[in-house]
Amino acid sequence: CGIFAYLNYLTPKSRQEVLDLLVTGLKRLEYRGYDSTGVAIDSLDNKDIIMVKRTGKVKVLEDAIQEHFSGDDYSEPVLNHVGIAHTRWATHGVPCERNSHPQRSDDGNSFVVVHNGIITNYNDVKTFLAKKGYEFESDTDTEVFAKLVHHLWKKHPNYSFRELVEQAIQQVEGAFAIAVKSKHFPGECVASRRSSPLLVAIKTRTRLAGDHIPILYGKDDKKQSSDQDADSGKAVELRPHGQTRELPVLPRSDSTAEF
Ligand code: GLU
Repeated sequence: CGIFAYLNYLTPKSRQEVLDLLVTGLKRLEYRGYDSTGVAIDSLDNKDIIMVKRTGKVKVLEDAIQEHFSGDDYSEPVLNHVGIAHTRWATHGVPCERNSHPQRSDDGNSFVVVHNGIITNYNDVKTFLAKKGYEFESDTDTEVFAKLVHHLWKKHPNYSFRELVEQAIQQVEGAFAIAVKSKHFPGECVASRRSSPLLVAIKTRTRLAGDHIPILYGKDDKKQSSDQDADSGKAVELRPHGQTRELPVLPRSDSTAEF
């Protein structure tokens, strides 16, 4: 499949423009999967997440987006709006709207996820989360990741978004690329990969003294090109005003019971 994420941290853009970018991104990635598609974008006040998903090609989604937002004021320029998008090639669960991405952690859309690849131990994670009271609404392996991040967020309320995703990554097996957005971390998007391709592009203006580059990858953003690091499941964090901070690489747990 293809995953695409966008965060406008430099230039105010209308949500219409952000959605257009997401759809353009999906069209470029459509050759990677075309059985269903979906997007998630912040609401105008940044307090909620709006999802539109459809079975079929990106064109079907494009029409659905227009219909969904017609009458809504989505031409107002906003900053730090995050959108994530997906075009699916189903591996777990038949192509249908329920199984389309983004997959969500709960009906309040706390955490939403787009995912390329397969989480091979999804059944173990699902069993663990079901015991914690999570109810699943799709047949995908992806949904367990959204719910796992939610579970970790409840358990570690002081963790940053990036820490939560890194913790979750440590618990899942397989080859994948993933992008996550959250109602609880507006203006942020965390992406990670293990053995799947993921390209990160950053548009910068001329740097002023004291400016932060709003992408964090350990201490050195050159590390983004290192396969070894990327394969270790470290997360890439997009934040508007990120403070650099070294995060411990967490030991991989052998058992889902240790989450
Ligand atoms: N395994 C996920 C699913 O079946 C993602 C498949 C893909 O890469 O499109 O939904």
